[in-house]
Amino acid sequence: MLSSILIAAPLAAQGRDHGPSLAAAHGADGPPASLPANAKAVKVPILMYHYVDATAPRVGPHAGDLTVRTRDFLAQMDFLAKHGYHAVTLEQVYAAMVGGGSLPTKPVALTFDDGGLDDYTVAYPILRSHDFVATFFVISGSVGGPTAMTWDQLREMQAAGMAIESHTAHHGDLVASSAAALSAELNESRKTIEAELGRAPLVVSYPFGRYDDRVIDAARDAGYLIAVTTHQGRVLTPDSVYCWPRVHVAAMESLKGFEAGLGVPVTL
Ligand SMILES: [Zn+2]
Repeated sequence: MLSSILIAAPLAAQGRDHGPSLAAAHGADGPPASLPANAKAVKVPILMYHYVDATAPRVGPHAGDLTVRTRDFLAQMDFLAKHGYHAVTLEQVYAAMVGGGSLPTKPVALTFDDGGLDDYTVAYPILRSHDFVATFFVISGSVGGPTAMTWDQLREMQAAGMAIESHTAHHGDLVASSAAALSAELNESRKTIEAELGRAPLVVSYPFGRYDDRVIDAARDAGYLIAVTTHQGRVLTPDSVYCWPRVHVAAMESLKGFEAGLGVPVTL
């Protein structure tokens, strides 16, 4: 059934009607079927951003290494476009992994954690001007709060082809959470996002990159197909679908450093 997934259609054209989707393929209830035996590893850099802004606050969670400056982000997107990279969503990567579609040449996934307002005001217009899709991991309980994006903004972004995924309900440490809290963080976030946006998230980004086997089981039980971490790496395997690595884009990183993070493009 996954082979029927159509991922070649431009995401932007799908708007709120998502057409064939992995969620539909898996059904709305229960954990997804296990990956097919012929699922294959793919090499795709998943770039990890948090905030993008002209300056970083001196204190607070936005400070230091988590705020890529606007001019640097613009230069990085220009670099990707100039060198023939194609932005993809994690859903597209997953579909290619399980045989439901192929990836474009030089694929790269752009991800943003925490749902900060600057993702909408600064990063989103730059992404659109480059015709790049991206994935935004939002903390469902913080949407609409101070310095966070609103549901209306997320609806607009989704309609333009952006993927809105989960960063849990309250950004707690899942490893340290009780079984009930762990389940609630993952399920509540998924249900809230689905209720607000009409699409259930398929991917969860573990807060602080913290996870263990119990967290993986809970993510699977909650219906997520994929989870991403803060591990460094570009090789995505079916076995590690609940702990895919990413490539951290550091603030003030040089364009040379950014290019190195992309690795050597591989066409599969
Ligand atoms: Zn976070």
